Amino acid sequence: MSSPMKLEGVALDTIAERFGTPCYVYSRAALTAAFLAYRDTLQAHGVLARSLVCYAVKANPNLAILNVFARLGAGFDIVSGGELARVLAAGGDAAKVVFSGVGKSRAELRQALEAGIHCFNVESASELDQLNAVAGALGRRAPVSLRVNPDVDPKTHPYISTGLKSAKFGVAFEDARSLYRKAAGLPNLVIKGIDCHIGSQLRDPAPAAEAVEKVLELVDALAAEGIVLEHIDVGGGMGITYRSDEPAPHAADYLAPILERLAARSEKLVFEPGRSLVGNAGLLLTRVEVLKPGAEKNFAVVDAAMNDLMRPALYDAWHDIVPIVDAQHAVKTTYEIVGPVCESGDFLGHDRALALKEGDLLAVLSAGAYGMAMASNYNTRPRAAEVMVEGDTTHLIRRRETVAELFAAESLLP
Ligand SMILES: *Cc1c(COP(=O)(O)O)cnc(C)c1O
Repeated sequence: MSSPMKLEGVALDTIAERFGTPCYVYSRAALTAAFLAYRDTLQAHGVLARSLVCYAVKANPNLAILNVFARLGAGFDIVSGGELARVLAAGGDAAKVVFSGVGKSRAELRQALEAGIHCFNVESASELDQLNAVAGALGRRAPVSLRVNPDVDPKTHPYISTGLKSAKFGVAFEDARSLYRKAAGLPNLVIKGIDCHIGSQLRDPAPAAEAVEKVLELVDALAAEGIVLEHIDVGGGMGITYRSDEPAPHAADYLAPILERLAARSEKLVFEPGRSLVGNAGLLLTRVEVLKPGAEKNFAVVDAAMNDLMRPALYDAWHDIVPIVDAQHAVKTTYEIVGPVCESGDFLGHDRALALKEGDLLAVLSAGAYGMAMASNYNTRPRAAEVMVEGDTTHLIRRRETVAELFAAESLLP
């Protein structure tokens, strides 16, 4: 038997013993390395001093993770008032926050104005009017960017493709100039920049570079009519490694064609990476509960389910699944790795060749992004614990929920 798999200096079986399973485990060193790869690439292209890297909170909103990035000087891309509250609770700087999203409520606009955020990424004509009204009532002027939709196909999964004409996101490219004119005429708005985000899990930077090119043409056309933008926000979307045989692009390679187009400009730059800062830094630890051989399929029922990690059920996404202790010479069987939830769509992996016994521990890899962030209590399952390792040290960063907490907000009829 080989020794158990480790994350940094900590053996994962000891984490399972201490905190139970299912359990998300993150590496602080990997989070830091992902952020520094971004920063070093900006440095290498000579744009770091005018760049702001805003971590997209929705990828993983745990306070400890936000705090790791805040300490590294990151800004944050938020999509709700709840995320703004998290950023502030985690020590983030409101002045480095950009607020994205198609349906910001008036209460959220007010909250963000009062906090003094860097910019609102506005996604419709109505939002311009609403923001103007809310800012006026507070006696403030709201910093705005328009999120434009450059209509380029990012060639990723349709659910995570956001920059096509058919998407609900952003304003149509053709409408952008008239909307900037409208914004310029509203007394309580200050035009700051332009924003685009075309999709997620992009492995090829060409579509993002093409989007930037279109955005730059628009920026120049606006300048020609006197609307001068201070910053260009190129969004997030860089892909990560989900399968060991399909490694993700390095930040240096992915960002190069985008930054080459921006290096000669003078605008400030904003980036909104989410997945690429956290995805490969986390895994989901789970234990095999039941092995269930069948006529057509063999099932390994594990204690993590679609409520813990929804990506396989939602996008048919692949995550590598590996044993914590490698049974080196044992005979492998092909398993469906499934959870206990009452849905046929509740699976974590199809057709995985593994040598398994009941009680074995498995790691579902690349689970740091859109894992715990999308977890639910479906089937009245308490959400998993979250742990961060740092060298030989383990920190519990979110304790496991209790069943009592799950219905504490509910009431019986009188
Ligand atoms: C989700 C999102 C991001 C982050 O996308 P990743 O693919 O996780 O990098 C950035 N900007 C906006 C507007 C988003 O909605």
